[in-house]
Amino acid sequence: MSKIIYEYNDDTLNYDRVYSSVGQQVWMAIKQLALGIIIGGILFYVADYAFDSPIKKQLKKENKLLLTQYQLLSRQVDKKEEIVAELEDRDDNLYRSAFNAEPIPATIRRPGIGGSDRYEHLLTLSNSDVVVSTTAKVDMMSKQLTVLSKSYDELADMVKTRDLRVKCVPSISPVSSKYNKGIISGFGMRFHPVLKYKRPHKGVDLNANAGTPIQATGDGKVEFVGWQGGFGNVVVINHGFGYKTRYGHCREMKVQAGEIVKRGAVIATVGSTGTATGPHCHYEVLVRNEQENPAKYFFMNLTPAEYEKMLFDSENK
Ligand SMILES: [Zn+2]
Repeated sequence: MSKIIYEYNDDTLNYDRVYSSVGQQVWMAIKQLALGIIIGGILFYVADYAFDSPIKKQLKKENKLLLTQYQLLSRQVDKKEEIVAELEDRDDNLYRSAFNAEPIPATIRRPGIGGSDRYEHLLTLSNSDVVVSTTAKVDMMSKQLTVLSKSYDELADMVKTRDLRVKCVPSISPVSSKYNKGIISGFGMRFHPVLKYKRPHKGVDLNANAGTPIQATGDGKVEFVGWQGGFGNVVVINHGFGYKTRYGHCREMKVQAGEIVKRGAVIATVGSTGTATGPHCHYEVLVRNEQENPAKYFFMNLTPAEYEKMLFDSENK
């Protein structure tokens, strides 16, 4: 409100009201408007600071709820992760090991997830820590589940080929029990009777007369027939599924490379070719090109007691 100004009139001896010019009135109005805006603005900010608007209140409530939900989700993901880890453990140590399949390396089961900027778009969020960590956990779990699912597909194929596998995996002695006079040298560090020093013996030596038939210990394909240094005449059979067998010091070869053989087929005869003090069959079982104690693969056609004795001999003779 503008001030009302009065001026004393000497003639009338009265106070007369003084009316301001139009310009003054406009200027006064502008000043009052500006003052109104400033006071209004201050009041608005004070009110906004002190009291939330209904929308702001609603958003704050929702934000709090979302944070709680994310924290809950994160804990649930942790629990599911424990279950996935348990499934991975069973997959490697039970299912895959039952089929003699290699465990899946940790680098494949839990690969690194992308670059550091993968979750950059989430960093601007309030509570970005829990959002980023939960998202990263879910990403990792989906990768783990993909690997698990592939492993199960592989196992399903192994189940389908189980019958073939049973036929192929070496599981009898290369020298039939009616000719076999026992193990003369077992698997591991052994004193070499000809070379006269200790060295790893990567197979077992089966004692049998010269000319005794040597049989294929599982179905497979003859991979090699020929001379191999100290092992003399050698036959190697590839059985598939990662298995190979090697028969050394043979006298006669009865098969040729490339031939398909059945378990029990005569492939050679016992001899003492190469470095040998007498006729015997040097027999190796290779699993993915690494020799294992062949005695573990003699389980067919043996009673449990015979198997125990043979395994004992393979480790102690
Ligand atoms: Zn040997």
